[in-house]
Amino acid sequence: MRVLLVEDNVAMREMIADHLKECRFAVDAVNCGEDALAAVAAVRFDAVVLDLGLPDIDGMEVLSMLQRSQPDLPAIILSARDSVDNRLLGLNAGADDYIVKPFDLSELEARLRAVLRRPRRRHGTIHAVGKLTFDTSSREAHVEGTPIILTRREAALLEELLRAPGRVITKDTLEERLYSLDDAGSMNALEAAISRLRRKLSSARCGLQIETKWGIGYRLVVSENE
Ligand code: CA
Repeated sequence: MRVLLVEDNVAMREMIADHLKECRFAVDAVNCGEDALAAVAAVRFDAVVLDLGLPDIDGMEVLSMLQRSQPDLPAIILSARDSVDNRLLGLNAGADDYIVKPFDLSELEARLRAVLRRPRRRHGTIHAVGKLTFDTSSREAHVEGTPIILTRREAALLEELLRAPGRVITKDTLEERLYSLDDAGSMNALEAAISRLRRKLSSARCGLQIETKWGIGYRLVVSENE
């Protein structure tokens, strides 16, 4: 399980990160809202532990940005703002739990595991790029109303590419997505799935193509000639 920890207090950040690592979580720790948003755009996390008092963007604003970009990502707020109003504000904004500082590290761990045991929420986000729309809950892609039939792997890759159109997504990130599906992939499973997805996008004339950045990864771009 990979957790993003967003906390600007160095001592607090290190203490939480160390504890969660001891509990066998993979932890990425950042100290501000901008780094948190960059991290979730680049890596797939299983949960976010979010401090509210951050030096750049307020944690509540970070939470609502996360809700828009990744409605399925569980979030636990960690804050010294202990009033009922603040807690309700956090939970109503979509946080899965709200822990008031000071808190016990083992309680944080227990609540994190509880949140991770819950079935993922299925809000579904519709990505629309060019003529293509993709629904993240049904995993269906359409071009001007006509469905494109995708396998699970192709849909997972397309979703990952659609999260940051125009940006290069590394092979590692894409492979992680494929391997997180039940079936273990072979070494060139990624290349094979990309090339099938490419053919489908091209025959659907959706105006998008997948560019290869040799040795780095792939990116989704709007093609000019369609
Ligand atoms: Ca803080």
